[in-house]
Amino acid sequence: MSKHILILDGDGIGPEIVAAAEKVLRVVNDQYQLGLTWEHGLLGGAAIDAHGEPYPQITSEQAQKADAILLGAVGGPKWDSIERSIRPERGLLKIRSELNLFANLRPAILYPQLADASSLKPEIVSGLDILIVRELTGGIYFGQPRGIRELENGEKQGYNTDVYAESEIKRIAKVAFELAGLRGGKVCSVDKANVLEVTELWKQTVTALKDAEYPEIQLSHLYVDNAAMQLVRAPKQFDVIVTGNLFGDILSDEAAMLTGSIGMLPSASLDENGKGMYEPCHGSAPDIAGQNIANPLATILSVAMMLRYTFREETAAKAIEDAVGKVLDQGIRTADILSDGMTKVGTVEMGKAVVAALG
Ligand code: NAD
Repeated sequence: MSKHILILDGDGIGPEIVAAAEKVLRVVNDQYQLGLTWEHGLLGGAAIDAHGEPYPQITSEQAQKADAILLGAVGGPKWDSIERSIRPERGLLKIRSELNLFANLRPAILYPQLADASSLKPEIVSGLDILIVRELTGGIYFGQPRGIRELENGEKQGYNTDVYAESEIKRIAKVAFELAGLRGGKVCSVDKANVLEVTELWKQTVTALKDAEYPEIQLSHLYVDNAAMQLVRAPKQFDVIVTGNLFGDILSDEAAMLTGSIGMLPSASLDENGKGMYEPCHGSAPDIAGQNIANPLATILSVAMMLRYTFREETAAKAIEDAVGKVLDQGIRTADILSDGMTKVGTVEMGKAVVAALG
């Protein structure tokens, strides 16, 4: 099996956090003899500067041949005023849809050492470990028809279409059930089946798949409004949450903020064969770029997700996560997760601390 990675540094803090993660990758690759190879490419603003577009042909070719992609983040004020269709974020949408990365996995994990960082009481969130599985290439973000039209009375009307075919629902539900089988065995499917037909079909399809193929999984259903409430009321009741593109967008940000530290959260976007793009949940943080203060842990933890989900190297993935835990135990913190009595370090030093903790 080829084991080739494309690393896209991106913009803003991207190159800094990716450099720290690459050091960790190099060490783990040697320690566990993983046989991984990698090359760098351009996406987003950096690609616009070099090639005039955010996802140029050369990056597309590199991405097609890679087995996994590690991305920093894209975007920044430098490119905010250019035409919308060639802005950095369009590059991100293009690569996701070209590679058919339909399953977005966003863990919301709160390391007990950081329980004070959450806006919720420590006893409600400490040890939180939820996995949100969001459908990423369908639903209302892509449904046709869409647009803004003029009505007969001259008033403007905006409209979008929420659509899901059974096959799209089945493949994302399958991902959720499989992953739940490796964790706590529980899936909560989130819909608005009392109002929206598209999610009525969602609910029926998820239930039918569970009955037919995953009898050992405990499946529950929540309406999205209740799910949003339960996430702040008693978040530890959840194991895996599966939902569509729109609800997943909102709930995954809500869950991320429960942990209080956006610099800690990795993500994965997978295709049907396990090929994936791995990136921190946060953006390119132009306000702190180039200052060696960004937290690289979300990107480092994205490497762990890559080893687990694409390369099936659980031991090496766990070693990275344990090393991050050790560093937090030692009281080492970047500015965004700093609290009283802890030692403040920069991006480079945090990367080095994780490497040292790997032994
Ligand atoms: P952001 O996530 O970049 O920043 C939000 C806040 O969190 C900022 O104060 C920032 O300094 C801080 N922050 C983010 N990551 C951090 C880290 N690793 N360590 C410490 N602090 C961190 O969101 P934004 O400011 O809304 O967006 C900035 C740019 O990023 C925009 O151009 C946006 O389009 C882009 N963006 C890209 C992605 C992506 O590449 N996947 C995602 C979201 C936003």
